[in-house]
Amino acid sequence: MTFSGRLGSSSRPVRVAIIGAGPSGFYAAGALLQQKDAHVSIDLFDRLPTPYGLVRYGVAPDHQKIKSVTRIYERTMKDSRVRYFGNVNLGFDITHAELKSHYDQIVYAVGAQSDKKLGIPGEDLEGSFSATEFVAWYNGHPDFRHFQFDLSVESVAVIGVGNVAMDVTRILAKSVSELETTDITDYALEELRDSNVKRIHIFARRGPVQAKFTNPEIKELGELEIADVIVNPADLVLDEASQAEMEGDRTARRNIETLQDLADRGPTGKPKQIIFHFLRSPTEITGEAGAVSAMTTEKNALQETESGYIACRGIGTFTEYDVGLVFRSIGYRGVPIPGVPFYDRWGIIPNEKGRVTVDHGGAVVPGEYTVGWAKRGPTGVIGTNKPDAVETVRLMMEDVNNAVELRPGDAPANNRSGPHVDGHGRPGDIIPLLKNKGVDFVSFADWQILEQIENERGELRGQPRVKITDVDEMLRLIQSAREEPVLP
Ligand code: NAP
Repeated sequence: MTFSGRLGSSSRPVRVAIIGAGPSGFYAAGALLQQKDAHVSIDLFDRLPTPYGLVRYGVAPDHQKIKSVTRIYERTMKDSRVRYFGNVNLGFDITHAELKSHYDQIVYAVGAQSDKKLGIPGEDLEGSFSATEFVAWYNGHPDFRHFQFDLSVESVAVIGVGNVAMDVTRILAKSVSELETTDITDYALEELRDSNVKRIHIFARRGPVQAKFTNPEIKELGELEIADVIVNPADLVLDEASQAEMEGDRTARRNIETLQDLADRGPTGKPKQIIFHFLRSPTEITGEAGAVSAMTTEKNALQETESGYIACRGIGTFTEYDVGLVFRSIGYRGVPIPGVPFYDRWGIIPNEKGRVTVDHGGAVVPGEYTVGWAKRGPTGVIGTNKPDAVETVRLMMEDVNNAVELRPGDAPANNRSGPHVDGHGRPGDIIPLLKNKGVDFVSFADWQILEQIENERGELRGQPRVKITDVDEMLRLIQSAREEPVLP
């Protein structure tokens, strides 16, 4: 029997695959569940067994309050219309073509998994890292747990003045007692316990008004137990264009006030120093025996462009700083997925308000959508992803209502037949395919087993959780819990 119910009706729900179970993926699922005019069924995939993406592996361990947002995502997972498939890597465990033939719509919520490059000599020396790598390491991301950072050095450079730079600086500057009550990984805490880092130089290519950090983050630096913040008062003397920019920007005004307070306070004799250098661009990282030993910067001047953007240009004055580690914190970048369009220049999936396009400004790819950092680039806080997802979901529903052909090449959307449809004319369920391929996928209930173990271990030690960071261990723990006899 072939069923030909309208797509989105109760007998023929729209089958949606969301790739990536970070904040943007969960907000997309949440927005889909709220649709009154269309029935949906959602499969949420992640390449790791663990859900929550950057909330688990990006948000700093000492920012636990931000992590409580996962309660909202748990509520989404309680809805029977949503299933979780962890440990499924698109492009490896399952192909783009397989996905396309099993769903009406696909949403890419894959974030921005790589980092931007400075493009200067010495960037690839040992000891030069992206902040992304350090963040993923101390947060226990399975792909980064084996990284090694030589914290025996005394001076470190952090390049960029966004919130990620603030996170990295804070983690390097905090005392063990400030960190041991967080969910920082055990191995990172051990390394930081022995850390010899005394000076953290932060380099901003533009001025303090143009800094991207938000006010709570810069204030937090001023409240650290064992680190002073050094701001040169001369850096806070603003040119006319920066003065005007600051007057129209509340965050910049507050930041300048905080930086002024820090400049007034000066060093108080704490063992570590966080030293801000504004208007300085790195020009070369140099090394001894292949490892970073110094970084040269060029002094910049600000210059307002015709569009009103305040840019910077080098003025030919160079200074060398002795540093043993460099953390480039100049922004994230997307990574291409096999079979999915990618706009290399911006490091995103090309799209029109969330509808994937074949190229930047090109034709729409029917039935494929994107949300979050993969859609708009690596900007904004976790909450920014909510309206972003709502925008994409509105277009997805518009396409369903307008009976847009979602899977060209397949049978018509409202009456499908062919190899991937079940007996009701719906695209076939993904589970048999995953099982046939031997993919050891993780359900949400499986994840909750891990979560409970992490929480229980944490409770014993006065930490929010003790993270399991090894995928094999995660799968072993899940497997043994699955095999436990169910009590009558
Ligand atoms: P970001 O806010 O875009 O900051 C990037 C920094 O790198 C800027 O200071 C930028 O300077 C600088 N930069 C870029 N290219 C450079 C170059 N070639 N040379 C020198 N400096 C360069 O990025 P992010 O810190 O990675 O953060 C990403 C997003 O996550 C942001 O929206 C952030 O607010 C958010 N986030 C939030 C939190 C939180 O809420 N606590 C924590 C972490 C991240 P220019 O301004 O001159 O380009």
